[in-house]
Formats: sequence, structure tokens, C-alpha cells
Amino acid sequence: MRRVSQIKQTEKKRNIRENLRNLRETILRETKMENTIQKNYIIVGQGLAGTMLAQTFIKQGKTVLVIDEPGLSKASKIAAGLYNPVVFKRLVKSWMADELIAFMDDFYFGSEKLLGTNFYFKKQIVRLFAEEQEKTLWLKKTNEDVGKYLSKTIEDDFLSDLIYNPLGSAEVIDAGNLDTRLFLDAFRNYFREQNNLLEEKFDYDQLIISKNSVTYKNYTADKIIFCEGYKTTENPYFSWLPFKLTKGEIITIKLLGDTEVGFDKVINKGVFILPVGDNTYKVGATYEWTNLTDLPTEKGKTELIDKLQKVLKVPFKIIDHQAGIRPTVIDRRPIIGLHPKHSAMAVFNGMGTKGVMLAPYFAKHFFDFLEKNIPLDKEVNIVRFGATFKL
Ligand SMILES: Cc1cc2nc3c(=O)[nH]c(=O)nc-3n(C[C@H](O)[C@H](O)[C@H](O)COP(=O)(O)OP(=O)(O)OC[C@H]3O[C@@H](n4cnc5c(N)ncnc54)[C@H](O)[C@@H]3O)c2cc1C
Repeated sequence: MRRVSQIKQTEKKRNIRENLRNLRETILRETKMENTIQKNYIIVGQGLAGTMLAQTFIKQGKTVLVIDEPGLSKASKIAAGLYNPVVFKRLVKSWMADELIAFMDDFYFGSEKLLGTNFYFKKQIVRLFAEEQEKTLWLKKTNEDVGKYLSKTIEDDFLSDLIYNPLGSAEVIDAGNLDTRLFLDAFRNYFREQNNLLEEKFDYDQLIISKNSVTYKNYTADKIIFCEGYKTTENPYFSWLPFKLTKGEIITIKLLGDTEVGFDKVINKGVFILPVGDNTYKVGATYEWTNLTDLPTEKGKTELIDKLQKVLKVPFKIIDHQAGIRPTVIDRRPIIGLHPKHSAMAVFNGMGTKGVMLAPYFAKHFFDFLEKNIPLDKEVNIVRFGATFKL
């Protein structure tokens, strides 16, 4: 008997506490409502993911507030921005290549037109063969589905004055790069001009979450979407997601000697060499699963120089060296969807090594889910990790 009354008392106390908390939130919300600015979405993070999501929503007539402190993660800013529909290791199409490539042109060319800046470039990737079997496999694959991305002929002396190329080379046709720095800066200015940007570190303590809306400082929105790259591992609402982060380092070089000599295609063998103009090239990248800081290291630099010297015959000097952390997930797929407990809160992340190809397509895919109830692809849906989340 005594035990029953004790349980009832504890329950009563819990109810009182709950009611007080709700009351506090209502008062806070209503006080704020007086000068509040209403948006459809708050997007935290203006890397590749947040930028493309925000622009997709704006294009569809939604209002957004982007909150970003650029110093927190460098991945998008330093990325080479390459896109390549072919996985060289097995010579197969990369995941969803056809769908993603078809979507990219529309998004990036449209953005260039909107912002009056050129940042999206088509460039063939020249694959230098490392062994005879690779050459045989390439020719065989030109007759398969991946073949539409592969040149049909082998070139024997591509740039033989400049590079070591004893076994010949072939080209990936539908490839290129996004100048991510230009792209992000142009969109940052655009968001700023439209009063859609708050340049600060997001403060989780200032967030009030309700069933159908969120309030952050003097903004309210239907939903908040976190696009914080690897920093999501420090987000109190999403730190349970199973990231397996990958650090990457990249150097920028200038070829020395004859300035007339150079090339305008991307070269790949062990490393990529991406021409960025003015006899300057980006060379990368390393993959490292420990020492997860965005500081460049001597080890990373040495690895890149060693690989580069196996390809380049001409001298060069290093003019820049950067590192960043890729938001890679254990199953190497994006993570998209609503928080399991708070439906006004969502995540758009896990672009891993391929933000340039994945983000435009999946931004629209996420929009269709949120606004048109079209189900999310199972491979990217956050619910696949539901069991990891503890209420
Ligand atoms: C060396 C290297 C080379 C790469 N090369 C390529 C390539 O060639 N092609 C390709 O497609 N991909 C490449 N990538 C991968 C690519 O960089 C990622 O896929 C992409 O940048 C992920 O973008 P993101 O927006 O999810 O994350 P991030 O780039 O990490 O952006 C997150 C943004 O949110 C901000 N932020 C985070 N937390 C908060 C907070 N609490 N408050 C406010 N702001 C916050 C950060 O400062 C940052 O601006 C490369 C990565 C590296 C490291």
C-alpha cells in the first residue's frame, strides 16, 4: 500500500516538473515571439552540404537562415572539388554516378548564372596505367555500362616531356571540378546580401525545440537542419551518429622552369594533379583515420611529394599545404533525415569524400521528403542507425 502511494507521489512530482518546464519554454517562446523573425528552415553550417541545401530550399521558394562560423571546419574550403563517376580501383561506376552527374550540371551552371561567377569546370581525368592488366581491363570495360565514361583508346605518350608514363594512359570523359572556395564565398555573399546569414558559432543552449517548430535567439523556424560536417560529432543531439572520420591533406604546387609548359587535364596515378591556372596545381590527397585535427603534417606532405615525384619529371615548389576532416560514415553513405525524438530537428551530412557530386542531388531529395512526403532512399535515411540512438 505504502509503495503504491510512493509511486504516485513520484509521478506527481515528475508531472509538476514537466509542467514547469513547458511553462518556462512557453514564456520564453512568447517573449521572443514579439520580435521574432520567422523562417521556414534554419540551416547550421555553410560548407558544401549547408550551402547546397540552403540554395535548393531558396530556389523552391522557402525562407532560410544559415548560421555558420567558418573557422570550425576546413573540409569544404580546401577540397580539390573533383568529381569522377569512375572508381579506379575496380573500374566500375561510382555509387549512383548516372543520377548524380545528370543533376550536377543543372545545379552548378544555374548557380554560376545566379551569382555571376565561374566555379564549375569540365576537365577530363587522365589515368596513367600502373600495370598491363589495368590497361586490358580498361579496354574490356569500355564495352560495359561504365564504358560511357571511359575513352575508347589508349594514348602512349601523353605529355611525355612532363610526366613518367611508360604504360600509357586513358581518360575519364565526364569529369571535372568545382572551385569550392569561389563557390562558397560567392554563396556566402549572396546569403549575406539577402539577410539570410548569421556569422557565428551555433549555441545549442539557446535552442528551444517544440513539436512543430524551433526558436533560436530571435528566429523561429519550422525546422532546424544541422550541416556541420565532422563537427556534428560534438552536437549534443546528433553525436550518436556513427561517423568514421577521415583526415585529408592537400598541397598546392607551382611548376618551375618553362612557364609555357603545363597541362589542363587532371592527372591521376597514386595522387591527383589538378590544374587550377597560372601553372599552379593542387595535389592530393591523403587518407588518415587517426590524428583527427585539421592541421597539416610533415608526414602528409612527404607522402604527397613522394607520390608526385613518381609522376612529374619537372621540378616544382610547394606554395600551400592544407588539411581538413571529411565527414565519412561507417557505411560510406550520406546521413539524412529527422531526429528520432524531435521531428523539428534534422541532419544533412555524411558527404564523405564526394560532397561535390552528392550534395546537389540529395539536397533536392531531402526537400522532396520534407515538403512532399516522398520517402527517403533507404541507403541514406538516418533511420538505418535508429538502434544506435538511446532515448
Ligand atoms: C583534403 C581533402 C580533399 C577533398 N577533395 C574532395 C574532392 O576532390 N571532391 C569532393 O567531392 N570532395 C572532396 N573532399 C570532401 C569534401 O570536402 C566533403 O565531402 C565536404 O566538404 C563536406 O561538406 P560539409 O558541408 O558536410 O562539411 P564541412 O566542410 O565540414 O562544413 C561544415 C561547415 O559548418 C560550420 N560549422 C560546423 N559546426 C558549426 C557550429 N556549431 N556553428 C556554426 N558553424 C558550424 C563549419 O565551420 C563549416 O563551415 C575533400 C576533403 C578533404 C579534407
